[in-house]
Formats: sequence, C-alpha cells, structure tokens
Amino acid sequence: MSIRTRLLLVNISLLGIAFLGMSLFAGAQITAGLRVDYEQRLTSEIALIAQRIAPAVVAYARDESDDPALDTVLAPYEAQIQGTLHVYFTGQSIEKYAGENTARNPVPHPDPPELEAVITGQLLVNQRRSEDGTLYFYTAASVFSEGQPVGIVQLRTPASVLQGLVLQRWAALIAGMIVLTLCAALLVVWVAHRMLRSLRQLQESATRFAEGDLKHRIASPPRDEIGAVGHAFNTMAERIQSMLEAQHTFASNTSHEFRTPLTSIQLRTEALKRAPALSHDTTARRYLDEIDAEVSRLTGMVQGLTLLARLDADRLELGRDEVDIVRFASALCQQMLPQAEDKGIALQLSAPVGPIHVLVNLTHLTLVFRNLLDNAIKYTPAGGIIHWRLVREEDAILHTIEDTGIGIVPEHLPHVFERFYRADRARLRDVPGSGLGLSIVSAILQAYGGTIRVQSAGINQGTTVTVRWRFPRLTQEVDTSQPIR
Ligand code: ATP
Ligand code: MG
Repeated sequence: MSIRTRLLLVNISLLGIAFLGMSLFAGAQITAGLRVDYEQRLTSEIALIAQRIAPAVVAYARDESDDPALDTVLAPYEAQIQGTLHVYFTGQSIEKYAGENTARNPVPHPDPPELEAVITGQLLVNQRRSEDGTLYFYTAASVFSEGQPVGIVQLRTPASVLQGLVLQRWAALIAGMIVLTLCAALLVVWVAHRMLRSLRQLQESATRFAEGDLKHRIASPPRDEIGAVGHAFNTMAERIQSMLEAQHTFASNTSHEFRTPLTSIQLRTEALKRAPALSHDTTARRYLDEIDAEVSRLTGMVQGLTLLARLDADRLELGRDEVDIVRFASALCQQMLPQAEDKGIALQLSAPVGPIHVLVNLTHLTLVFRNLLDNAIKYTPAGGIIHWRLVREEDAILHTIEDTGIGIVPEHLPHVFERFYRADRARLRDVPGSGLGLSIVSAILQAYGGTIRVQSAGINQGTTVTVRWRFPRLTQEVDTSQPIR
C-alpha cells in the first residue's frame, strides 16, 4: 500500500473516530438538555392550564356544567400540549379524556407520584408506562379558586413527542458531523497531495538518474525534510557524475595509449616475418603468427573499449550516411559467407524488396550486425543454419538473427550485455572472443534509440537475437517481404 493511501486512511480514520466521539458526547448532552427543557415546559404549561381552567372546573364541581362543556374548555390545551388532561376533585374525581364523556371517579390508589407531589405543594414530572406498554410523561398542578384548592389537573403526554424532538436534533447533529468529516477529509487529501508531491518529484528524479540521465537534478527542492533529501540527492548525483566522467576519461586515455605500442609491435612482427634469416625457422614463424593473432585480438579489444568509452561519455556522433539497409544486409552476408561456409553453416537472409534508405553511421551499423553474425557463426556448430530476417515496421526495422547453435543457459542470459562477460567459459574455451561484442552492440543501439533482446531456450536449443532499430527513413518503398538469398 502506498504512503499516500496509508496517510489518507490513518488521517481519515482518526478524523472519523474523533468526530464520532464528539457527536456521541454532544448528542448525550443535547438529549439530557432537551429532557430538562421539556420537563420544565410541561410543569410551566400545567401550572398555566390549572389557572386558566379554574372557572370551568369550579362550574363543573358545582354541577353548573357537564362533561361536554368541560371537554370544550380542555380540548384546545390538549391540542397544544399533544396530550390528555385529567381533572380530580378533593375526595372524588372526574377522569377526562379528550372527546370522550366520562363519569366521576375516585382518585386512583396508590396515588401517582405527580399527584402526591401536588398535595405536598410541588410540581413533579414522572415517566411511566401505561397498561399497553406506551411510555408517557405525567405531571399535575392544583386548581385554585379564590385561594382554595378545588381539584388537581393531571397532564399525560406520550414520550414519543420528546423522542421525536431528540431524533430531530440527532439527525441534524449527524448530518453536520458528516459534512464536517467530509470537509476535513478533503483537507487531508489536499495536504497529503502537497506533501507527497515533492516525494514524487524525488522518486521521478531518482528513476531518471538510474535510467542514465546523469545530468538530471532536482530543481529547487522545498525547505523541509524531503527538500533536504533532495539536496542530498543532487550532491550525490554531482559526485557520481564527476566520478563516472573521470572513469570514462581514464578508460578513453588508456585505450588510446595502448594503440601506439600495439601498432609498433605489429609493424615489427611483419618486418620479422619478412626477414630472410627467419624464413626457414618454422618455430620462429609460428610464434610470430601467434604474436600477430594476439596483437590483432588486443587491437580489436582496444578499439572496442575506445568506442565504449566514447559511448559512455555521450560523445558518439550519430552518423548521417544514407544507407540502403537491404543492400547493406545483403553485402554483409556476402562478406560473412566464407566464414560461415568454412564452418559448414548455411547463412540465409530474408528481407523486403528494397531499397529502404536510412540515415545512420555505416561503421556503427556494420559493427552491430557484424558482431551479431559473428556470434551466430562462432556459437553454431557445423551443419547449422543462421537466418537473418528483416521486417519493416512503421518507424523502425525489426531484425531477427536466429541460429541453431549451442544456445545460452537461462541464468546467463541477463548478463550477456555486461562487459567481458562470456557465458559458460568452460564450453567456450576454444572459441575466440573477449566478451565485449554484445556490450558494444547494445551501447550503439541505445545511442540510436534502438532495442536488443537475446532469447534462447537453453543449451543446444539455438539463439534468437531481436533488434528493433528506429531510423529516420528517407524513402517509402513497396514492401513485399520475400527471401532474397
Ligand atoms: P567478442 O564479441 O568480444 O569477440 P564474445 O562473442 O564472447 O566476444 P559477446 O559477443 O559480448 O562476447 O557475447 C557474450 C556472450 O554471450 C558470449 O561469450 C556467449 O557466451 C554468448 N552469446 C552471444 N551470442 C551467442 C549466440 N548466438 N549463441 C550462443 N551464445 C551466444
Ligand atoms: Mg561476440
């Protein structure tokens, strides 16, 4: 999981937990406050109702009115408090339900707490369930006439009224908290994005540097801890670049210095070979031939190293020679044919009908394919076949050089482009080579923006080298891919 995702998850979870805790606490406080308010409202309402209905209660007690008349007086108050009112008289009582006529009833025993409280001169709100299980709030107040208590008015209102209010508050609270959490989450996303932007820049720079862009540096790192890492990266890149440059200069100078003595050794061996004194000395002549062969090998290696040093230092000049790639391949095959035939190997070429003109340095082109064909011939035993196929693509030419040779063990495959690497040296004891060919080929291809892939199913399974070389093309010719050899 990425740092960004982890940072977001942790922050948003913490915010969620904090907001949930705050909501629960605030909700509990609001619920308690609402209940206190509601009970206070009920007691003040009942006190007020007791005052207002006093004349009607007195009239009823004196039998000057009846149940319907009392109902008419009580109904508006019941609607207002969303409950029912009962009126009790001292020693006897009437029980009153809105819209119903009821008979006089004795005060219920045991006395409900709110009625007992009224007798002791207090106002009390009591909560209890009715017979059908519904929860109600009860409160009561004395009804006075001319300073004398004439009865008690009891109020009963379902708890669902308060519960509805509480629910409304909770809904508002939760909606508010959700909106706040979302805003905070957006803020966290924005902050995380800003913080990680410089980290991403750092990662991109490291990747570009690792891919070989040694001149790349982080432009104006921020003034924080990540910025400090950016500065350290720039310093490190600077040092690595100068170390590599020093190394390339050293390699280039060394290879150059080797050339002169090698040339003079070669000149002297040639002079010695022509010397009449040695014309009959077969041992001396054999040694001279061996020295010659070794000097040629060393000269080849020095040339290869010089080229690699130039490639490393980005000093290879990509050529602008106009080359017909089809004719080039055909000519190179002709050149290599004797070497192949000497070993009893068939060399085949399949290419589109040319010409396909491309701009390239002919020496580089020759170096690449001569090395690849040389490998194919060297590592294919007698009776084998080498097949070079050229396929024209949209903006590149795809070359496949397939041989039926000794193949490469899978664990050696990733290393064949390393300098001086020879896969399975024991098997190659008698095959000449220094292990530089493929590293030169891949370095040239890299300079031209081409790619190379070496595939082999294993020992004696043959090898296939695929080169995709992007060329600036000069002409668009008809492609009727068919073998020409
Ligand atoms: P040089 O090319 O410098 O004369 P080399 O041929 O040994 O020496 P590379 O061309 O770099 O070096 O090849 C590296 C190694 O890859 C070889 O030593 C060989 O083990 C293996 N290799 C390359 N091409 C083939 C091939 N066509 N078949 C089998 N093995 C191959
Ligand atoms: Mg080679």
